[in-house]
Amino acid sequence: MNKAVEGVNLGKRESIYQPEQEGLVFPEIPRFATVAEERRHRQERLAAACRAFAVHGLDYGFAGHLTVRDPEHPELYWTNPMAVHFSQVKVSNLICADHSGKVVEGRHAINRAGFVLHAAVHQMHRDIVAMCHAHTVYGVAYAALGKPIPPVTQDAAVFFEDHVVIADEGGKVAVEEDAGHKVAAAFKGVKAAIHQNHGLLTCSRHSIDAAAFWFIALERLCHQQLMIDASGVPPKPVPAEKARYSREHVGNEFIGWLHFQPMWEQLVQAQPDLLD
Ligand SMILES: [Zn+2]
Repeated sequence: MNKAVEGVNLGKRESIYQPEQEGLVFPEIPRFATVAEERRHRQERLAAACRAFAVHGLDYGFAGHLTVRDPEHPELYWTNPMAVHFSQVKVSNLICADHSGKVVEGRHAINRAGFVLHAAVHQMHRDIVAMCHAHTVYGVAYAALGKPIPPVTQDAAVFFEDHVVIADEGGKVAVEEDAGHKVAAAFKGVKAAIHQNHGLLTCSRHSIDAAAFWFIALERLCHQQLMIDASGVPPKPVPAEKARYSREHVGNEFIGWLHFQPMWEQLVQAQPDLLD
């Protein structure tokens, strides 16, 4: 997030989507006077991301975990409490854990599989700020195919050369730490992974906002791709150069963050208790 904040401070436009005309209403990347303010912000956005997952039907029992790194203590991360429905996550029931899975703040237990995967990724990739994983209808179905999302639409192009399929440990529940390390090792330099026979993972080097939006986007793409495959008609691919162009313009971290802002505004109005 620091890079983005600097960009704003210098008055640079990060994206072609930012208005050139002054004085218009447009989401602004937040700036913080203290680390406590930034922590509170990340907690609020994490709780909202969980609520967004509930709205999109991405829950499956107690499965699913979203994490964001603490702004002051990078070895700690905030996550949703174990066995609490996404629709009931709020700032006050979030937990903070270390990379060994020990809860250092909060009353609730941590999800064992969540800690194994997320702790390994956060520990191995210091640049990753936030990460999401859930067992979703279309993502899990698509993960059984063991293939990447092809760039056959402009929306799909945002993941072109920016996600991986991880076959290692697929289908074997990740409760041992070694399993988390194998997945984390494959999850580098990209914003998403399809874990074969398991489901989707997304991350962001910018914000939980972006990680959550890319997760919702990838689940949607899996749904669309399954429909395309079911049609039996071979889709027309977007040429690599065009797919890369789209990814650069509408697949970057700022755009992921920006996509989440209308969801945030709607959620805080409709479900203000998420801030409790
Ligand atoms: Zn899982």
